[in-house]
Amino acid sequence: MSTASSLPSGLIASKSAASHRAYVTLVTNADYAMGATALARSILLSGTKADIAVLHTGGVDAAALKPLSDLGCRLIETELLDTSEAFNERHARGKLHANAPFTKGRKPAFHSPLDNFCKLRLWQLTDYESCVFIDADALVLRNIDKLFDYPEFSAAPNVYETLKDFHRLNSGVFTARPSAETFTAMLKVLDRPDAFWRRTDQTFLETFFPDWHGLPVFMNMLQYVWFNLPDLWDWKQIGVLHYQYEKPWEEGHPRAAELKPLIDLWHAYLEGTSIPDISSLPNPSGSHAE
Ligand code: UDP
Ligand code: MN
Repeated sequence: MSTASSLPSGLIASKSAASHRAYVTLVTNADYAMGATALARSILLSGTKADIAVLHTGGVDAAALKPLSDLGCRLIETELLDTSEAFNERHARGKLHANAPFTKGRKPAFHSPLDNFCKLRLWQLTDYESCVFIDADALVLRNIDKLFDYPEFSAAPNVYETLKDFHRLNSGVFTARPSAETFTAMLKVLDRPDAFWRRTDQTFLETFFPDWHGLPVFMNMLQYVWFNLPDLWDWKQIGVLHYQYEKPWEEGHPRAAELKPLIDLWHAYLEGTSIPDISSLPNPSGSHAE
């Protein structure tokens, strides 16, 4: 095991960077490691030359990480951010769900809101020039390397219910430039006395980058669009499919019947067999792509 010398202390890499660009994801438990496995396979199939870097905490066991290293991912072990006790309490699952209830969908039991903030460690990956972060509950359906050339900070809108949400960002996909200075500046703002980020890293990033650039909505197509805004769906244009709220590997979740075609697609990527031709899939309206 070699450790890349240019990473800050506290980050231990399984191998050196092989590109100046990386797709980055985060996994803090075995469930999200499984999500990241399907994601990593989908990224490889997109034909990119960029690295796939997986930030993971010490709590993820070796068996859960093995499929990721077998796929060639660069594993980077780290810990959650060193935030204050008071901050951690305010953002603990029970507290956050009570103070900022989710009314539109349901989070799985294995989702810990505090862990989300660990995404900010992407800015510590200073051996990359440009990174595209992608949540572990997503799939890349075509080559999206052009996102590396977007400016910091670029993210797609948080659209899954109504078009009025186009001005909100979703932090499941974003372009950023690692920088020790930016990381330090972020931590100062993040853990201020009484700071409460109701949608965790998403609210924080929206606040820290008020002039964020918009990515096309297809670069982070949220699964609820399938049933809430079916006219917006177009398999031919989707770059990233993001399973926000319920996860495709959760057995029989409340939306499983409505989302069956999307769940089946996710399983095809996880197993790496029978992956369909995306552009020939039927859109939710029932119409076939031309
Ligand atoms: N995550 C994680 N462990 C957790 C919570 C989140 O590893 O307990 C990571 C993982 O990459 C996940 C992302 O943070 O995809 C954001 O959480 P999630 O995707 O569940 O939120 P949603 O997209 O449903 O808002
Ligand atoms: Mn997600």
